[in-house]
Amino acid sequence: MKVYEPVNLAMPLAKELGERIMEKGKLPDGEEVREILKGFGLEESCLDRGIGVYRSRNVVALVFVKGEALVVDAISSSGELSDAMEVIAYRDRQLNTFIVEILPANDIEYEGNVGIEPIIIDAEKLELESSPVLGYFEEDDEGVFLVIDRETYGRWKESGNTDTCPVCGGELAWKGERAYCQDCGYGVEVKG
Ligand SMILES: [Zn+2]
Repeated sequence: MKVYEPVNLAMPLAKELGERIMEKGKLPDGEEVREILKGFGLEESCLDRGIGVYRSRNVVALVFVKGEALVVDAISSSGELSDAMEVIAYRDRQLNTFIVEILPANDIEYEGNVGIEPIIIDAEKLELESSPVLGYFEEDDEGVFLVIDRETYGRWKESGNTDTCPVCGGELAWKGERAYCQDCGYGVEVKG
C-alpha cells in the first residue's frame, strides 16, 4: 500500500473501519485503530488520553476517540492542510445506522464525495446500505491506482456513476479493468 498523501490513507482506512463495524456491530476503539494504522505502515509517535498520533514518511494521522465517534485526521507531514482529510465514524441513533465518511479539509478542490458515497451500515442487520467506492492504493509504471474489489465495483456499477472519479469527483475514462482520471491523476483498478 502506498501512502503519498492523506487521501491514500483516508480511503483504505474508511474501508477498513466499515468492514470492522460490519463484523463486530460497534465502532472500533483506539486499540483497533492503532492496529489498523500500524498495519498500513504508520508508526505510533504519541498516545495520550484518547488521542493518538501516528506517522509515515508523508502523512501524519491524529486519532481522536470520543465515545460514540471516532475521528481520524490525516495531514500531509509537510504541515500543508490543503490536501488534509478527516475520516469520521459514528453511530447515528436516530437512523439506527453506523456512518463512516471522508471529509476533505479543502472542499473547494473536491467536486464530489471522496469515495463517492459515505459508508452507511444498518446497525441491526450490519449490512451495507450505500455504494461507497473505497480501496487501497498501488503504484506501477502506469501510475498510482485505487484498487477496488469486485464487490465494490459491482455496487458502484449498479448505482450508475462509474464515470465519476471516487478520489476527486472528476471524469473517469475506462480501458478494460482500469480507469484514468484527468483531474487528479489517480487511476482506478478493479482487482480480485
Ligand atoms: Zn480524479
